[in-house]
Amino acid sequence: MIDHGSTLATSLDGRVLVPLRTVRILGIPVHDVTLAEAVAWISAWCEPGESLRQVVTLNPEMVMAARRDPVFRTVIEQAALVTPDGVGMTLAARLRGTPLRARVTGVDLVEALAMTGRSLFLLGAAPGVAERAASVLEHRYGARIAGTWAGSPKPEDAAAALERIAAARPHILCVAYGAPAQECWIARYRAELAACGVRVALGVGGTFDYLAGVVPRPPAVVRRLGLEWLYRLIRQPWRWRRQLVLPLFAWLAIGEAIAVRLGPRT
Ligand code: UDP
Repeated sequence: MIDHGSTLATSLDGRVLVPLRTVRILGIPVHDVTLAEAVAWISAWCEPGESLRQVVTLNPEMVMAARRDPVFRTVIEQAALVTPDGVGMTLAARLRGTPLRARVTGVDLVEALAMTGRSLFLLGAAPGVAERAASVLEHRYGARIAGTWAGSPKPEDAAAALERIAAARPHILCVAYGAPAQECWIARYRAELAACGVRVALGVGGTFDYLAGVVPRPPAVVRRLGLEWLYRLIRQPWRWRRQLVLPLFAWLAIGEAIAVRLGPRT
């Protein structure tokens, strides 16, 4: 799936990065990547002459959605980088004997990308939120913000968003329309975004809400324990319906792990 082309990315300590290993969780691909490596790859893809790459931060809810939705599944298969976002991803990978080294969440990735000097365009979230997130990224991390726009994933709103992105010509486009709308929006307008000069486009979910302080970010201890899903459920109870798929994800992941471990070795 991954199209690293002839690009050689180097990590912050100057090492040349090797192509990323893919692990499949319930049939959906995800890369074994650290935050530093993800930033190095994305930064390398911002060099002149590179084609547009899509980055997905994949969590268990998205895995379950991709199993039901072939369009979303194809978008993930064609992404250049799929990072494991959510403790469910690392647990499922460990259970099946193919551990992932790290979790790379949308908010961690956006904060780290803000420090690379590449220009960012923040698209999505409620009116005013992307502007507030941009101001936090500028002041806290020295980000180069090319532009912001709330927009919406509706087809009739695409022209206005593309016009603003074209005027801003950012290296990196961060889209906060929620999954899978944001990933499908990027894939649908891939050619137009490339013509706008965008090199890397990624779906970032609730990242702008966290950065702007609209939604409180779980404390570090909650994140370390992998209990963000419980924290979000308590703070945003309307999520319970979406999180109903999580027990099914856990059940299927355990079943897959048993099948992989008992199955014939290749
Ligand atoms: N959002 C949007 N337009 C829409 C749907 C969602 O701008 O039509 C925004 C929403 O305001 C939020 C972001 O998409 O800022 C992601 O929402 P959510 O927390 O549901 O995403 P998740 O992190 O769970 O993927």
